[in-house]
Amino acid sequence: MRETEEQEQLEQFASDNYAGICPEAWQALDTANRGHARAYGDDPWTAQAADAFRALFETDCEVYFVFNGTAANSLALASLCQSYHGVICCEQAHVETDECGAPEFFSNGSKLLIAPAIDGKLTLDSIHELATKRQDIHYPKPRVATITQSTETGRVYTLAELRAISDACKAHGLYLHMDGARFANACAGLGCSPAEMTWKSGVDVLCFGGTKNGMAVGEAVLFFDRKLAVDFDYRCKQAGQLASKMRFLSAPWVGMIESGAWLRNAAHANQCARVFAELIKGIPGIRITYPVEANAVFISAPEEVLNRLRDSGWHFYTFIGGAARFMFSWDSNPARLEAIYRDLKHCSAETPITP
Ligand SMILES: *Cc1c(COP(=O)(O)O)cnc(C)c1O
Repeated sequence: MRETEEQEQLEQFASDNYAGICPEAWQALDTANRGHARAYGDDPWTAQAADAFRALFETDCEVYFVFNGTAANSLALASLCQSYHGVICCEQAHVETDECGAPEFFSNGSKLLIAPAIDGKLTLDSIHELATKRQDIHYPKPRVATITQSTETGRVYTLAELRAISDACKAHGLYLHMDGARFANACAGLGCSPAEMTWKSGVDVLCFGGTKNGMAVGEAVLFFDRKLAVDFDYRCKQAGQLASKMRFLSAPWVGMIESGAWLRNAAHANQCARVFAELIKGIPGIRITYPVEANAVFISAPEEVLNRLRDSGWHFYTFIGGAARFMFSWDSNPARLEAIYRDLKHCSAETPITP
């Protein structure tokens, strides 16, 4: 038994969704599992989780719980759009690259309008350009801009950047949606409050990720303008996102928010990323490609070095952001940072640098 357990431990910095469930979320599941409760969200945990979000965000928002980020983003965008609308996003956005067309599918055809990612972010210029480039009836009417916080490349929009983006959205009659699959990492990175990062900066709808934050499953969709949430419950049900035993989606949020684990987990992951970046920055031939502002470190290194690192047993992705991505989670082991640093240094020293 013990041996199998050890064999199944994957040593990796590939993604924060390889990690397990944190104690606070697990404990809340266990508490919710003692006995019976009403189904479909009509239970005390779901009410308590929604209230916990309202307290955390210091506002009376509408809160929904869905199974994953693709559903959260797609259904949120669908609720902001008619089928003839357009959604402005950057080319690296998860909604564009990793959701299999779900935003278009659930909105019955709203088109994603793609902007170049400048240093991993959507820019004001792109919003302006895409919002104004066509005014005629032959092109989808821009209706929403969506940004990812923290970004797919581990960057964080500052509060000033968020406010400038929301001002641009307002000027063009666009709603602002935030994909917060790593929202907690962004809050920990900036050291600002959830309210400052969202409605106080002009965000209309937030998808707050629980999975990468240490839960088993689940994302919360927060509407800061309640009018935008009209019939969202029907949308969730039709999309197969209304959990019958809802308490197991919602109770972990109570544990995460009331204990502060949501922020602690993210701060730990971010800290591991900073330590790793600091360790490796002197290795010849290795370049950190994006500023480290959340829980990811992207490096460019000769293909051979990365292959050797893989051969020595480390897992990481190279298909995102044009570089090798090392991603840290709530339970990343600080002691193993030294180990991967040593291996990377070793692999790099073994590989002659070709100009
Ligand atoms: C992980 C992630 C999601 C959610 O993905 P699911 O697999 O659908 O849960 C959404 N946006 C970003 C930026 C992500 O990294």
